[in-house]
Amino acid sequence: MGILVFFWEICTAFLFQQGKAVERITESIGKSIKKHADFCHKITQTLMLSSFPIVDTHCDLLSYLAVVPQADPMKADAIACALPHLQAGGVHLQVFAIYTDVRPGSMALADRQVAAYQHLLSAYADRVHAMEAGKLQDLSAHPGIGALAAIENAAGLAEENTPLPQALQRLKAIHHAVGGLAYISLTHHTENRFGGGNYTEGVGLKADGQKLLDAMAELHIPIDLSHTSDLLAEGILQHIEKAGLTLPVLASHSNFRAVWPHARNISDEFAQEVVQRGGVIGINFLRAFLDTENPERIFAHIVHGMERFGPEALCFGADYFYTKNFPDPSRHPFYFPNVENASCYPSLLEKLAQYLPSAYLPKLAYQNAAAFFQRQRQVVEAGLLRG
Ligand SMILES: [Zn+2]
Repeated sequence: MGILVFFWEICTAFLFQQGKAVERITESIGKSIKKHADFCHKITQTLMLSSFPIVDTHCDLLSYLAVVPQADPMKADAIACALPHLQAGGVHLQVFAIYTDVRPGSMALADRQVAAYQHLLSAYADRVHAMEAGKLQDLSAHPGIGALAAIENAAGLAEENTPLPQALQRLKAIHHAVGGLAYISLTHHTENRFGGGNYTEGVGLKADGQKLLDAMAELHIPIDLSHTSDLLAEGILQHIEKAGLTLPVLASHSNFRAVWPHARNISDEFAQEVVQRGGVIGINFLRAFLDTENPERIFAHIVHGMERFGPEALCFGADYFYTKNFPDPSRHPFYFPNVENASCYPSLLEKLAQYLPSAYLPKLAYQNAAAFFQRQRQVVEAGLLRG
């Protein structure tokens, strides 16, 4: 009997050990399958994110080309939005700003940037093409960098003493020369004949600004609120209402004052106005407007915008410009390493996947801005055809 019990105990111990071994093997296979599934999911997600076409609503390549001697759009170490960076980042639509300051000679400088834009389209036709409403329906089907031009500061249209009829003539001429302007901001940081800029609070919309808005509405050129004083933004919105203008509104390169208080950032009140009117807000990558110390704050701006104003509110408006001749040393470095040039979009989206539902990522990457410009382009292109 004792032998049988002993034999039974040996058998059960053996079976128990075997069971444990099987359990361990099963567990290890399970873990390995999960590890591989996670890995595959990560690879798929990375591939998916890196294949999103990118739309960016603001860069200053044209002023670099017009101002800097021997400027070259292919020179990747010269400017963060050089063509190789845009291509590496998967940018399928880039809005190129025609930027001028408020000073004598601003119209001539704007003209040089119009010429630089035309030259970009002709001399780099293998990389850059003019964006059209039809292409915006399916950006991925059109390789290369789609381009639109915009005016940043209406000082490029008219100097302070230029007769207004001449300014409005120039508006039409430039609008035609670039194949339809993507938007205009009336001001930059300072005040001009049209209104008050970001750093001239207390100066609102002036009589010439009203007339320019009326002319823009006729041509269906959106108004950009990124460089207005609050009083100018208010004046613009009131004038649109009062005059019954059909004028799309956007903030092409603005972050949120609620996240980082800065005169260049947009208040929630005006952001709400932009979004309610079907406009978009382009997230700006400049360190000064994100948080001068914290590279992760870009995520806080994006999450704030999406949570407060909905998934259709935001796009990218990185604001890459030529920084090498910038006089204020406190602004260096202008961009944090995580967004230091236009090749950053896929890695930025990958990190954003930790903060946002995955369905929001393509909206931010291209869908919101593409929808905005598609609506605008359809009307603009019909207008240009009529002549
Ligand atoms: Zn700007």
